[in-house]
Order: sequence, then C-alpha cells, then structure tokens
Amino acid sequence: MNAADRISTKLAMVAFPRGFCAGVSRAVDAVEAALLTFPPPIYCFNEIVHNRQVVDRLTDKGVVFVHDFDEVPSGGVVLFSAHGVTPQLRDDARQRGLTVIDATCPFVAKVHAEVKRFAQSGYTIVLIGKRGHEEVVGVAGEAPEHVIVVEDAGEARAVGVPDPSRVAVVMQTTLSQSEAGQVLGVLRDRFPSLKTPPNSDICYATTNRQEAVRQLSEKVERVLVLGARNSANTNRLVEVARNAGTAAELLPDMDSLAAIDFDGVKRVGVTAGASTPESFLDAVMAALAERGFEPTHLPPVAEESVTFTLPQPLCR
Ligand code: SF4
Repeated sequence: MNAADRISTKLAMVAFPRGFCAGVSRAVDAVEAALLTFPPPIYCFNEIVHNRQVVDRLTDKGVVFVHDFDEVPSGGVVLFSAHGVTPQLRDDARQRGLTVIDATCPFVAKVHAEVKRFAQSGYTIVLIGKRGHEEVVGVAGEAPEHVIVVEDAGEARAVGVPDPSRVAVVMQTTLSQSEAGQVLGVLRDRFPSLKTPPNSDICYATTNRQEAVRQLSEKVERVLVLGARNSANTNRLVEVARNAGTAAELLPDMDSLAAIDFDGVKRVGVTAGASTPESFLDAVMAALAERGFEPTHLPPVAEESVTFTLPQPLCR
C-alpha cells in the first residue's frame, strides 16, 4: 500500500479497555453457574446487567427476570445483579424462604459498607449519583434517614444538612471522574470537614474505560459507544467523548448503526460500556468493515487484572 492509499484508508479504531468489567463478568458467570446448579427456572431480580442482548440470551436459557418477589415461588432461587439491592429487599427475600445468590459487585458492596459506617457514626451522607438508578437506590437503602442524593454541582450547592460539621460523601461507582470532581469540590467548599472514603468509589473499570474513550476521541471524528440506553457507565462514556470535543453517540443495537450516516468520516472510534458483550462489538466491527472501515485496535491505556470469585452458594 502506498502513502496515498494509507491516507485514504478509512479506519475503525477500537479502544481498550472496553466492555465487560469484573463485576459484570461475575454476575453473568453466576447466572450461568446457577443454571447448572439448580433446577430451572432461576429468577433474576431486575436486569442482571443493563444490556438487552445479555438479558435475551439468558432468558432463552431459562432465566426469568422479575421486579417483584411475588413472581417467585416459595423456595425459588433468586439472583441479585451487580448493581446491588437495598437491605430491606435482601431481608424480604430471606423471609420468603428464597435461595439468594447475591452478585452485587464488591465495589458496590464497599459503598454500602461505607454508608453503614458513616451512618453509625451519626453523619449525614451525601450520595453523588443518579437518583432512581438501581445502584443508588440500593446504597441509599442502607441508611435512608441519613442519605441525601445529589446529582450535580447545582444540587450540591443547595443541599441542606442538620449539622454541617458532620457530613460525609460517597459516590455511585460509574460516575464521570470530572463531573464527580466538580460536585465534590462544591461539597468541600461548603463543608470543610467533609469525610470521604479512603479510596475513590468510582471503580477501576469506569476510570479505565473513560480514559480509553478520552484518548480515542482525540484520534477520530466520531465515536460509537456500544451499550444500553439505561446503562449508567455507557452514558458516561458518551459524555466523556463529547466533552473531549468529538461527536459521539450511544448504539444500543444493530438497527441504530444502520441509521448512521458515515459520509465523509475517515476515522470512527468504537468502544463499549461495562455491560456490553464482546459479541455485539464483533458484529458492529463486521458491519463497519462492510462500509469500508479497516479495524485498528488501539493499545490498552491500562492493564486490568481484577477478577472476583462467584458469590455464595455457588462458590464453596
Ligand atoms: S462498573 Fe465497576 S462497580 Fe460496576 S459492576 Fe463493573 S467493576 Fe463493579
């Protein structure tokens, strides 16, 4: 290939890390292991991960997704997703005699533990996160009378607390580093003795995927973020790319790819949220290849070695 050909080559550049994180892998593996361990059906409370392709595949294998324990027969096996649930729901499941497989991501469980610890010490806990998101609902449920959810810097400026000298902060694990930093800055200004957890609540997978898409955005004209519209971490990746000044859109399925006009685009970037299976990325890359984009895999911005063992009672 000569220099002129190389310049005219259209590229689909893929970021790394991308896709499944350790918490999502563990939750999906837990469902697969439960299907082999217990007689069907296995019940899953809410979506195991926010991804339609994963949910549909597991439904085909005999998993029933429910939003209410009334849909689970006594003695049934119910699995909680990586997002976690409130302690009230955990207690309710046990009181109904259900076998619980709790696949709450250990990084989310860490935030639950922080809320309990701060609440026991009498702190008001500001939880930075998206109101109504399952993870935020579960974390807030650890101490509802102590927790106030704030979504952005404006809410942080307005939040009222009973004792400004006893305020702590925790975060949803999938926030954008920069936005969370702004909110934290407002809280530190307002509450100088603000207590923070020893380590950031934003997990390694969120941090790495955001950095990878930020670097990808500098190299391409358009970024495609593969993942579900209700996936928090996927939406943050879109925001990070746009904040870097690059056009970016969320792609939940192949139909949405078909609707995109790539006229004049020579460099397209591709990444995937932490709940998006690699099989979807493969399908998108194949479709982009048909449109003349040559696949190029960028070097990793970080090595990832985090793994978790399966939750009880699958791990003996
Ligand atoms: S994004 Fe982070 S906190 Fe959420 S499941 Fe994955 S590893 Fe756990």
